[in-house]
Amino acid sequence: MSDVRTRVDFKVGQQSNIDAEIVSFHGLKTDKEHVAVIFKNADKMQAVPLVRMHSECLTGDVFHSSRCDCGEQLEETINLMGESGGIILYLRQEGRGIGLYNKIDAYRLQSQGMNTYEANNHLGFDDDLRDFTEAAQMLNALGITQVRLVTNNPKKISELSEYGINIIEVVNTSAHIKDGNKNYLKAKVCHGNHLLTV
Ligand SMILES: [Zn+2]
Repeated sequence: MSDVRTRVDFKVGQQSNIDAEIVSFHGLKTDKEHVAVIFKNADKMQAVPLVRMHSECLTGDVFHSSRCDCGEQLEETINLMGESGGIILYLRQEGRGIGLYNKIDAYRLQSQGMNTYEANNHLGFDDDLRDFTEAAQMLNALGITQVRLVTNNPKKISELSEYGINIIEVVNTSAHIKDGNKNYLKAKVCHGNHLLTV
């Protein structure tokens, strides 16, 4: 059983004016320090909250790297939930679960022509090592059994359902195309079956 450890208010977004709460947990499956960010627009929050499972991407989220679309997806979600309420589960599984250093190694291979999946495979990893069990544990600890899931990724939809969360709607994020990430997004669509038009 997992439960909530600490909940504390903070303000988020580029103007730091969106009321939210950050939540830590006891008893998650691994010792990774996953957090939930709950957007407090409670008056507008529908009975079934918007939820996004966002896997940590230091290069994209913090440095707005041109190689992926993670930072833009996170910002889009913050803006959406700032308006409509919702929950971001920020999961500390960098590089689709291979870790930051391995991801940087994979970037070197991508610079030599491999796509994101080929590069991870070349390093000895499967396409996607992420595990969304803990996301379900976090939702359980928050008392949430039904969600409107913000994603383009069919793997997230099937896994979260498998772990007992009822997904009543899938809300797609936009295509954030930049000079440096076209091949990355194409690989996500062709190889990862992401619901995205590039
Ligand atoms: Zn990224």
